[in-house]
Amino acid sequence: MLWSLFKIILFVVLIGAATMGATYLLETDGGIRIDIGAQEFNLGALQAVIALIVLVIGLWLLLKLAGLVVAVFRFLNGDETAISRHFDRNRERKGYQALAEGMMALASGEERTAITKAARAERYLRRPELTNLITAQAAEMSGDRKKASEVYKRLLADERTRFVGVRGLMKQKLEEGDTDTALKLAQKAFALKPQHAETGDVLLALQATHNDWHGARETLGKKVKYGALPKDVGKRRDAVLALEEAREIFDEGNSIRAREAAIEANKLSPDLVPAAVMAARSYMEQDNPRYAARVLTKAYKVTPHPDLAAAFAEIAPDESADERLKRFKTLTKEHPDSPETKMLLAELHVAAENYEKARDALGDLPYEKPTQRVLTLMAAIERGLEAPDSEVRAWLAKAVKAPRGPQWVCDKCRHIHSDWTPICDNCGAFDTLSWTEPKEGDMRMPGGEKMDALLIGAPDIAPDAEMVVEAEHMEPEDAETPTDTPADVVDVTPEDTTETETKN
Ligand SMILES: [Zn+2]
Repeated sequence: MLWSLFKIILFVVLIGAATMGATYLLETDGGIRIDIGAQEFNLGALQAVIALIVLVIGLWLLLKLAGLVVAVFRFLNGDETAISRHFDRNRERKGYQALAEGMMALASGEERTAITKAARAERYLRRPELTNLITAQAAEMSGDRKKASEVYKRLLADERTRFVGVRGLMKQKLEEGDTDTALKLAQKAFALKPQHAETGDVLLALQATHNDWHGARETLGKKVKYGALPKDVGKRRDAVLALEEAREIFDEGNSIRAREAAIEANKLSPDLVPAAVMAARSYMEQDNPRYAARVLTKAYKVTPHPDLAAAFAEIAPDESADERLKRFKTLTKEHPDSPETKMLLAELHVAAENYEKARDALGDLPYEKPTQRVLTLMAAIERGLEAPDSEVRAWLAKAVKAPRGPQWVCDKCRHIHSDWTPICDNCGAFDTLSWTEPKEGDMRMPGGEKMDALLIGAPDIAPDAEMVVEAEHMEPEDAETPTDTPADVVDVTPEDTTETETKN
């Protein structure tokens, strides 16, 4: 502060002296006379100007010297870097100017200028953690991947910039499709910064695509711990991952550990249908039908789903139709108005050859909310009631054109899946599938045509109604493939064909 004031005053004095000198020069005809002590100097006009210039240079040197003296004074007072700083200040000023220009160039999209300025700044500043960042970004922007990856590798050397380097390399590998290397880099980046939300998401997605469910669960746990994910969301996602882990352990042949994992997944999220089914089967294997029934009922309370009913039937595979009807009351008393419950009840009555009651159970569902399953069921009921063949056939004809009813639909991209999966087959989103009625224009899974092929060309040959009932998903031998609902048997509709065509 004082130093600045001193400089300003000196500048003013200097200007004043120069003005006075010039005036004096003009007034004294031919030259000036200077008296120093006893000596006397007589200067001509030119000599006077030269003397003035020498005076100015002398003053400038004096200022520099004063700066140095101040630095030395500071040094003597214990500021060890004062002298080197005094000499570095100039370089620093130039360096930061280049750095600022580089950042400006980067912001305005001039990648080449940014790289040049960053190199200049580096020459003056020797601060690679700053200048490399600009170079890396500029190289990335200009599409110079080689240069960018070179700089990212340089960033790895410094602890402060290591994360940026790893993340940059990870993104490059992802773009190249090298997911194995990207996974390793994502693990490193996440270890450096577990609170970084984007890195956590990338790592989770990569672990999921590599079927590393155990690793994914660990990542998820850390994300929740560091506050990058709300606890309830974390719990639900953990359940989904635990279920996938259980499936994989089961495929590996370790059924005891798989059972434990399935039960854990169900505990984490009791409403997750596939987890409830798997947990119920685990309890059945442990001869614990009471627990199996309990988890299925709990899940059914949230989502009435045919898979839950199918698993519920497996609890007592050898019971009679009447016994089954009685046992199912714990399930059918939930959501009595849900189409799923109505159909379930009707199916149970059909199995008990109680066709009147079956029709009552359906209520106005075949007229109000006709789906393939309801209408096929209706055909079976009419057949059981010994209605004329033409009537049975009329119901089946309607069924062929009816909508399929609720499916596993991705909330994000509306893609329809034939089976539940943790990651959407279409958009890759995690845990976005919900059991709901697809809207018009939703994308159909290509797998749906399997059944079409069986029936194409023979739409007016009505399948035997008894066969339809036999294909019922609640029968024990079919229970393992719960998707074989009657709806799938007559899976051919004109809309189906158009949808498939538009997809291609
Ligand atoms: Zn999707």
